[in-house]
Amino acid sequence: MTPFERGLRERIATDGPITVEAYMDACNSYYYATRDPLGARGDFTTAPEVSQMFGELVGAALADCWTRAGSPADALYAELGPGRGTLAADALKVLRSAGFAGEVHLVETSPVLHDLQARSVPDAQWHDSIHALPDRPLLLVANEFLDALPVRQFVGVSERHVISLSGGLAFDRDGEIVERSPQREAAVRQIAQRLVRDGGVGLLIDYGHERSAPGDTLQAVRGHAFAPVFDKPGEQDLTSHVDFGAVSRAVTAAGASLTALATQREWLNRLSIGARAATLANANPERAAELAAAVQRLTGRDRMGELFKVMAVHAPQWPEPAGFA
Ligand code: SAH
Repeated sequence: MTPFERGLRERIATDGPITVEAYMDACNSYYYATRDPLGARGDFTTAPEVSQMFGELVGAALADCWTRAGSPADALYAELGPGRGTLAADALKVLRSAGFAGEVHLVETSPVLHDLQARSVPDAQWHDSIHALPDRPLLLVANEFLDALPVRQFVGVSERHVISLSGGLAFDRDGEIVERSPQREAAVRQIAQRLVRDGGVGLLIDYGHERSAPGDTLQAVRGHAFAPVFDKPGEQDLTSHVDFGAVSRAVTAAGASLTALATQREWLNRLSIGARAATLANANPERAAELAAAVQRLTGRDRMGELFKVMAVHAPQWPEPAGFA
């Protein structure tokens, strides 16, 4: 048993069962604070780590929206949970070439990932909450950020808790699960309120479903494979599917505008990922096969193309970004 798991068991022994939300919160805080989880040698690979094309198209979509908004000079590039900083670096290349000269603000709580981001985006400024972002128009991105925020689970009217048994941790009840994520909704509400007040646009990219529905979507991933959620607490990534129905309601309640939900496949195709791959392959013929494989991985129906969804939130006075028509 790891010291982290021992601590969790002692906490449950002293304070009683903890909610699924508290379990996920404790595990992910520890997990992200103690490692770089990304890439082939880590636990999972995100879209920007698959290919530079992903971040470049994010940058192109933001640059287009910013230009149509009149190129406000005080706008910021902001990213939530930027991982290794790969997406930010690729998106900023395109934004800079479109004339965007604004500051870069990253929201990150992990010291390990902060250090990696500082190598990819040395001129960035860091914050530990969305609240701390400066009051300026935002060009905001959150890729696989919302899924890491904890969920509460309910069976009927009873909240599901985690208990400690002699053999390990376990749920206190089973049945038809309904999930709710107040932390996720709060994050979305804060983004939407900022966009309404200061202007800007936010791209929310994550795996999840369009409509709220019952179901247990809590999952653990370690070494690129699913694992039981109580297997190695704090040593594996815990996520749940983002309920984009709940996200939409939070955005609308805050008075921000919202695009239709697109699958990652639809969105990247509308942003012409095929043309981008062809341009890169023409310049680097030896990379043609790798680029084709990356397009397939990002857009393939049985890969990341359909499970991942993209939604944009924007200030009512800002134009709708491309890719959602
Ligand atoms: N967006 C990156 C990384 C996704 S992993 C990519 O696409 O590659 C999740 C990211 O969110 C990590 O950077 C993690 O440290 C960060 N994170 C998780 N919970 C957070 C929280 N509560 N506040 C800020 N960042 C958080």
